[in-house]
Amino acid sequence: MIQGKTVEEWITDFPLLSSLIETEEVFWMNSKFGQFRTDQLPVGEQEITDASERWKRFAPYLMKAFPETKEMNGIIESPLVPIPRMKKYLEQTYKQNIPGSFLLKCDSHLPIAGSIKARGGIYEVLKYAEDLAITHGLITTQHDYEVLDSQEFRNFFNQYSIAVGSTGNLGLSIGMVSAKIGFQVTIHMSADAKEWKKELLRSKGVHVIEYTSDYSKAVEEGRKQALADPNCYFIDDENSLDLFLGYAVAAARLKKQLEELRVKVDQNHPLFVYLPCGVGGAPGGIAFGLKQIYQDHVHCFFAEPTHSPCMLLGLLTGLHDQIAVQDFGIDNRTEADGLAVGRPSRFVGKVMEGLLSGIYTIEDDRLFVLLSALIEHEQISLEPSALAGMVGAIQLATTETGQEYLTKHQLKDKWERATHVVWATGGKLVPRNIMNEYYEKGLWLAKNDLK
Ligand SMILES: *Cc1c(COP(=O)(O)O)cnc(C)c1O
Repeated sequence: MIQGKTVEEWITDFPLLSSLIETEEVFWMNSKFGQFRTDQLPVGEQEITDASERWKRFAPYLMKAFPETKEMNGIIESPLVPIPRMKKYLEQTYKQNIPGSFLLKCDSHLPIAGSIKARGGIYEVLKYAEDLAITHGLITTQHDYEVLDSQEFRNFFNQYSIAVGSTGNLGLSIGMVSAKIGFQVTIHMSADAKEWKKELLRSKGVHVIEYTSDYSKAVEEGRKQALADPNCYFIDDENSLDLFLGYAVAAARLKKQLEELRVKVDQNHPLFVYLPCGVGGAPGGIAFGLKQIYQDHVHCFFAEPTHSPCMLLGLLTGLHDQIAVQDFGIDNRTEADGLAVGRPSRFVGKVMEGLLSGIYTIEDDRLFVLLSALIEHEQISLEPSALAGMVGAIQLATTETGQEYLTKHQLKDKWERATHVVWATGGKLVPRNIMNEYYEKGLWLAKNDLK
């Protein structure tokens, strides 16, 4: 029995579940998606603006502490680039034309953490540091935050500790910045976390605790241990509004980049955004920010591995965090470690309920094939998770449900003028030898399995 019903009863109520249980690729249209209304949202424009201002206050600090951010004046942002050769590859492979612009948002190459987690994770650590320093009368918001990069402040922050549960990348982003600021930091890593991510963190003096179980357990343990220590701040990936706001800032930045590329987004020029989803915070925060700006002109889709479709399951059944993929015998085993989450964030699910257009799932093998193709055609290296968004436009164009979505929202005649943004969520820090293995695996699969 799952929440009072048998699997058969669940399938009768939600027929899509049978494909999900079989770990088949599916495309799901969110029936609760509707017209954008601001009154349903937990946070508004003001909070996002505040977050954006906070990032600006920290720019001098980031430039000093992380010289790689100097080039961008201490603003952690990633390029938005056209990938015409990859688009052509997709069109040929899937025998499907993709009209309009096809862009890659390279969060894979964000400074410091090399993943989308540089947005939320770093933001929350900085906010906590700022709160502490202000409460203790050490700075005001008028100060030049460059002073935070000093022995005096490191000694101060060293009295406090930070903890987080992670599948790898969130730990990496929080670990890197916390250690630099001076915090003591403990990362609770799930079994999926890659060895090199743990090693990198240990080399920075971060305390890494490993679990043999999945993400939800690592978070639970981390939360428990942090609660027992009054000087420990727990970054709660399942419920954090600050993380969410850190991610949401991406939207206004993307708008500026689209304008620079002279890409129009309006009534007649829809924007489609495809975001890989784990627990939901990163894609949720970004999609939320985009809806604030573009409202009904933006269509956000999440992408999940066929073995970890937690957000789809939570939204489909309306049970959010009260249900896990494992309840249905889905194993939550995927090479896409950033997406290896069996139970979604309730907070994010609730916010996205009316804002998200849909979710599709993708097989691991396909991620590797796409990974190799992107290296071949565009010389851009991503980690497997980050490829999940690549086939979003293809899914919309080739599945019955995708077509239904386009018809329902009168998008068919606008399809020619659409812009597609594939959100690439990680990859820069992957060691070369491991990236080579991924690449070879993708080539092999393309030749043998998935032709
Ligand atoms: C964390 C992560 C995601 C998804 O973010 P969530 O907040 O877990 O949904 C996607 N891709 C990569 C590479 C990640 O590390």
